[in-house]
Amino acid sequence: MRLYSTNNPELSVEFKEAVFNSMPQDKGLYMPHHIPQLDADFVENIGKFSMQEIAYKVAKSLLQDAMPDEDLKAIIEEAINFPAPAVKLDEKTYVLELFHGPSLAFKDFGARFMSRIMGYFLKEGEKTLNVLVATSGDTGGAVALGFLGVPNTQVTILYPKGKVSPIQELQLTTNGQNIRAVEIDGTFDDCQALVKQAFVDPELNAKFRLTSANSINISRLIPQTFYYFNAYAQLKREGKADVIFSVPSGNFGNIGAGLLAWKMGLPVKQFIAATNANDTVPAFFRSGTYEPKPSVATLSNAMDVGNPSNWVRIMTLFKNELQQVKEVVTAESYTDEQTREAVQQVYDQYKYIVCPHTAIAWLAVEDYRKQTGDQESTGIFLSTAHPCKFPDVYEGQMAAAVEIPEQVKELEGRPKQAVELKPDFEEFKNYLLNT
Ligand SMILES: *Cc1c(COP(=O)(O)O)cnc(C)c1O
Repeated sequence: MRLYSTNNPELSVEFKEAVFNSMPQDKGLYMPHHIPQLDADFVENIGKFSMQEIAYKVAKSLLQDAMPDEDLKAIIEEAINFPAPAVKLDEKTYVLELFHGPSLAFKDFGARFMSRIMGYFLKEGEKTLNVLVATSGDTGGAVALGFLGVPNTQVTILYPKGKVSPIQELQLTTNGQNIRAVEIDGTFDDCQALVKQAFVDPELNAKFRLTSANSINISRLIPQTFYYFNAYAQLKREGKADVIFSVPSGNFGNIGAGLLAWKMGLPVKQFIAATNANDTVPAFFRSGTYEPKPSVATLSNAMDVGNPSNWVRIMTLFKNELQQVKEVVTAESYTDEQTREAVQQVYDQYKYIVCPHTAIAWLAVEDYRKQTGDQESTGIFLSTAHPCKFPDVYEGQMAAAVEIPEQVKELEGRPKQAVELKPDFEEFKNYLLNT
């Protein structure tokens, strides 16, 4: 598999290089030179295959001979080891539950695959890979649990003290092994600034092999295509056609993977990009001018992104023409008030509890149907996280009805292990050098 930079189509690197660099020197994003087409026969018969079989087929056609088939199969079997069911709410409405992995969010797909790809490419005797991540909640949990126990890797997670939910904190701080948590007495921005400074510090780079494992890494994007194909397979088994995917979007990696799947031949009628008040993309659809802006805090905080880094990838899939994007994607933004109402409406209508991110995707399907009059297509909205990760959103009957999954119960008895540091680079650097 060869990849280029969105800033330089002439560039050409191998998959392994793109995985370890995360981002090309020119600050573009890696994209595959060639987008393979899955054979029509496979797509027609996709309902006969399991998610792991589908994942292997898709990954193999993208990665080509980046690694032997048996190794790729083994990585997929280890990384994609939890289900992603499309749950039927009514004849035309399904919710795709992507939260059955260890951190209870869809980011597990990307993080688990990426960690194993990195572990695989680290040759014996090579320096340990030091992963540094700043998190406001969900990313850190997925990365921590994704890398847990992966040989030759050590992960350091920085999170803002008192600013993540109790379950998120458990996921970050109770792992041990090759995962350690640093609690910063400051904000998420402080955490991110420390990590950024570490990456350009000569002394740290001389001593460690540092990587950010961040969300723009191509090895996080690829596994996110798997569940789109697998969702389609499930709907096909139930005789559904004309599929519409609604995706709660922040950095636009999730929907970017869906559009890549579509480019590879997945028959999708429409994608909906559903955002919170951070509406850079919906505003672009309206005005034709792309204007990134500072993010604002919302209830669906994993989508609080003012300048979505994966948007460039999506534009290159459509030859940088908004008009072409619009042929298959619509975009809509919603307020916190609408989000709260939607959480309640879904519960009233289906006795089903959605997280705030997921609620926005449901709302966007409803609106799409109203606006287009399309009552025939099958709407499937992606549920990106388990509701128990956002306990502040629910009250009364609904709060009592939120189930606590096994993954969380297991963590609850474990002691918290975290080092507390001030948002001070010298202090952080000393910690890295001396522990
Ligand atoms: C990260 C995240 C999102 C946003 O996904 P993007 O790929 O950044 O668009 C949505 N919901 C939840 C729960 C998340 O953790």
